[in-house]
Amino acid sequence: MNSTECGGGNPLSPPGEPESSATRIELPLPDDWHLHLRDGAALRHVVLASALQFGRAIVMPNLKPPVVRCDQARDYRTRIREALRAAVATAHSPVTASDQPPVLRCEPERRAWLLEEALRFEPLMTLYLTDHTTAADIDAAADSGLVHAVKLYPAGATTHADAGVSEVGRLGPVLERMQKRSLPLLVHGEVTDADIDVFDREAVFIDRVLEGLRARFPALRIVFEHITTRQAAQFVRQAEGPTAATITPQHLLYNRNAIFRGGLRPHWYCLPVLKREVHRQALLEAAVSGLPRFFLGTDSAPHAARLKEHAAACAGCYSAPHALALYATAFEAAGALDRLADFAAVFGARFYGLAPHTRRVSMLREASEVPHALPFGRGNSIVPLAAGEHLPWRFEGLIGAATG
Ligand SMILES: [Zn+2]
Repeated sequence: MNSTECGGGNPLSPPGEPESSATRIELPLPDDWHLHLRDGAALRHVVLASALQFGRAIVMPNLKPPVVRCDQARDYRTRIREALRAAVATAHSPVTASDQPPVLRCEPERRAWLLEEALRFEPLMTLYLTDHTTAADIDAAADSGLVHAVKLYPAGATTHADAGVSEVGRLGPVLERMQKRSLPLLVHGEVTDADIDVFDREAVFIDRVLEGLRARFPALRIVFEHITTRQAAQFVRQAEGPTAATITPQHLLYNRNAIFRGGLRPHWYCLPVLKREVHRQALLEAAVSGLPRFFLGTDSAPHAARLKEHAAACAGCYSAPHALALYATAFEAAGALDRLADFAAVFGARFYGLAPHTRRVSMLREASEVPHALPFGRGNSIVPLAAGEHLPWRFEGLIGAATG
């Protein structure tokens, strides 16, 4: 049974004409400001999907064990680059055409050129904040040139967050140093108290932690990651000081009904969990607002299908292979396709003090079905976000000399 039959309705294919008449759009090469690449075999299976679509990505540090020091971040970056080289080599000579990401199903010369360009993908590393992080660790990170941010996970908030911070208030000297060194703090904004409803954890985190943090460190650069609520969008709009937020495709396209549509749907389970429709609307409004505080971060978080379809399903949606098409679908539904370029390719780079790319990519209006599953190594498969649904846009890849 495919997801559309079981689900009783396809949320990505509203009836009627598309709201815009555009048949092809171009934008600067985007960046992904929140990405999980994992490690080992999983890394080799997912890294190329991001490298074909994005120029850079802020890579999350929640490995096991977590990336807490610069030398670990450097080693992880090396492994990402090696995995990318291996994935590119494999993609040069695929066993079957269906092994290829759709963007590579083109003339051999163009495919070779796209793969060479994908090797330019730049992983921007992050450190994992723990109760034991010191101000000296922050100095080392700021001096390293390779660490671009530090991630705060409240202990137990999500996948591999058990080493996270138990009491944010005690991190004063570390946050002070981050503020001084202009190193952004990336926040998974949820409290983890057992008596707080899972759907309220983000809103309560704003009141109990984030407001205070913002006031206590007025110059600290804060990214409220993967926001999911009206309250979070409102906080980011109004906060004093350098404050921004990433927004995922799933939180723009789905409300929490998606998790329960016709049966329990583990592939729509992520953290922070999907919320009510009123929150989805508020996030969409923020994303298309043209405010530079809101930018793209997929939070693409791959888990093997067998660990999602499990009695204790892992949290995370795998959106990397068709991330841009998902965002284009959401922006078009809001009548704001012309705002996608800034959200995807300009605002995030500026917040991180980097120049947007001069290379450009294109998307074509061409309906295509998201695969029901993708290979994930050693007999494993992975089910991407929106599996079995039809997206109205197809990513064409970089525009360049070898376009043919
Ligand atoms: Zn994440």
